[in-house]
Amino acid sequence: MIAAPGGGKGTQGERLSAKFGIQHVSSGDLLRAAARADTPVGREVAAYQERGDLVPDQIVLDLLTPVVTAAAARGGYILDGFPRTLPQAIAAADVGRRLDVTLDAAVCLKVPEPMLTQRLLARARADDSAEVIRHRLRVFAEATSPLIDYYRDRGILVEVNGDQPPDAITADIVTRLPPA
Ligand code: ADP
Repeated sequence: MIAAPGGGKGTQGERLSAKFGIQHVSSGDLLRAAARADTPVGREVAAYQERGDLVPDQIVLDLLTPVVTAAAARGGYILDGFPRTLPQAIAAADVGRRLDVTLDAAVCLKVPEPMLTQRLLARARADDSAEVIRHRLRVFAEATSPLIDYYRDRGILVEVNGDQPPDAITADIVTRLPPA
């Protein structure tokens, strides 16, 4: 799932996970859990998240790889929030190859920026001050949006209008996924 902050990846990731019976793996959730631990890595993760900066790729990979490995053994996974950079996309493909998993689709939820800001302010998590929100949207535009072309070039991009009621978005995604 690729979407800007506030784009609805979490909601749709949960729904697709329930529908297909495969694990929803949210990098943001895993990182927030790591940040709650009073450890050097936890404190480092918390600092990046509070600023709205990306956590370094190696930390993210160390955290995600065991979770994804276990999920693959149980039939597959939906990644939400990962990959978020081109190096992460290359790492995700490597992990998939090692686990003999095919990346079937990269689902991109498209939502206009004013709507994103509105949703993020309404949600107002600890890491969601107005300034941090602006920063996170900029980080998305710079670091993550290149992944849209990357997956389009690989022929697996599924672009969906994310500015609709959640049920309609889920229906659009499901219709447009490649046949199993
Ligand atoms: P959102 O999509 O609303 O930004 P997430 O829960 O996906 O929310 O991410 C929250 C924060 O966690 C990000 O701003 C970033 O600091 C960190 N994060 C999540 N996923 C990654 C990732 N793949 N690489 C680096 N940092 C990440």
